[in-house]
Amino acid sequence: MTLVTAAFLATAFATHALVGAALGAILFDRPGVGAVAGLVADVDFLFPAALGWPFVHRGITHSLPALLALAAVAVGVWYAVDACGSHRAAGAAVAVAYCSHLLIDVTTPKGIPPLSPLSDRIVGVALPTTGHSPVPTLLLWVGSLWVLSRTDALDSVARRVPSSRIGE
Ligand SMILES: [Zn+2]
Repeated sequence: MTLVTAAFLATAFATHALVGAALGAILFDRPGVGAVAGLVADVDFLFPAALGWPFVHRGITHSLPALLALAAVAVGVWYAVDACGSHRAAGAAVAVAYCSHLLIDVTTPKGIPPLSPLSDRIVGVALPTTGHSPVPTLLLWVGSLWVLSRTDALDSVARRVPSSRIGE
């Protein structure tokens, strides 16, 4: 892997996590769940190449059945942990953040297989630019950070910055 490829992947991962965190924070007060769910589809980078289709990058993990399965698992886990109703917010945060990942990736030339493993048909949306190009990436980062700044999601990060020591 070249340095350029590594930098591109790191930026793409950060974009998915930031967008997921922003959606999870503003819609469901679950920024952490959103960040993880926004990124988790790319776990397919860890699949051994020997597995082949659909266990490849932008294969089965980039589909609506995977989204529904993960959201159902999230609801089940949260229900087991906390039966007071917050499991619905967690499941919804997972679904929306995961969906944001698919929407960004469907704009790329490689597209996604939305019905995998039921169908291997690849779908792509041809836009003037892709979701991982520099301008959309910048807009997604700025928009996501702005949304996060409007919630208390960044408070724990801000508390770690020793701003009170500036000027001492
Ligand atoms: Zn992806």
